[in-house]
Amino acid sequence: MIIVLKPQVTEQQIAEFSRYFADHGVRVNKWVGEQSTVLGLLGDTTGIDTDYILAQSIVEDVRRVQEPYKKANRKFHPDDTVIDLGNGAKIGGGSLALIAGPCSVESEEQIVQLAKDVKAAGANFLRGGAFKPRTSPYAFQGLRAEGLELLRHARRETGLPIVTEIMSASHLVLFEDVDVIQVGARNMQNFELLKELGKVDKPILLKRGLSSTIEELLMSAEYIMASGNEKVILCERGIRTFETMTRNTLDISAIPLLKKLSHLPVVVDPSHAGGKAELVPALSLAALAAGADGLIIEVHNDPPHALSDGAQSLTPEQFAELAKHLRELEPVFKGQ
Ligand code: PEP
Ligand code: MN
Repeated sequence: MIIVLKPQVTEQQIAEFSRYFADHGVRVNKWVGEQSTVLGLLGDTTGIDTDYILAQSIVEDVRRVQEPYKKANRKFHPDDTVIDLGNGAKIGGGSLALIAGPCSVESEEQIVQLAKDVKAAGANFLRGGAFKPRTSPYAFQGLRAEGLELLRHARRETGLPIVTEIMSASHLVLFEDVDVIQVGARNMQNFELLKELGKVDKPILLKRGLSSTIEELLMSAEYIMASGNEKVILCERGIRTFETMTRNTLDISAIPLLKKLSHLPVVVDPSHAGGKAELVPALSLAALAAGADGLIIEVHNDPPHALSDGAQSLTPEQFAELAKHLRELEPVFKGQ
């Protein structure tokens, strides 16, 4: 971290200010120039609050030269993190994980049939929302606890591990038997929820917030990891831009950037990004080519009658065709 001090700063003020850093176990190097004095901090500065520094009357500017996240940072953990649930259900480590299923779990018949269909097409995980974060309180809110029970049933029928969204830490008891807990875009910065998920011993699929930066996503991952759970999967699902033809704009650049900055696996959600089923194949292929470790794709048996996100859902046949194409290209991009 580099701190530029205001021109008229006195030696006594610098000495007092430097004590704050000593208390944080950080060393200070000082350069006195013609116009201003610059302090360079050496050591672990993750605990230093840049807002606090900027609020000091002698400070002109402050800049981090090291990332504020540590556990999620590839610098301190060069090897890729691989999330392995056994039975070929793996995220990271050189293969492409396919997570597929409906936006919402709607009935036993629906989820069991879709689980069988996506498994036959080559999916490694079953997705399905039981607790749904809907913009309108009058829209379908999900089958809640019953939805989780139906997902468990579909898992018994197919062996596919289940991925489903949590919206409140108070629901954690219901998620004990869930394989991967999803944190939705709207909760990416629900820090109390993230801290609670840090105490859980299961993978967390953390979606990027609607208007969150890459660094904010990594800081949210850091919340979970700093609380003790290092099994975090990052998910790029599109961000809000001025474009109205797509539901969101898939940030392809986020994929190689996240892979460079962090050792955590990166999954891409082309369904919520594009918002239209016709865009899902192209976005999926782009994500694979850009280095994604997995895709989470919405699939519905009857998209026009889906209780949520029908427009962006593939039919099982469309998913099977896409999965076939992705599996053919997987060795090209994953170098197997
Ligand atoms: C979902 O996966 O169905 C969902 C609500 O996604 P997001 O949080 O990315 O909007
Ligand atoms: Mn959805």
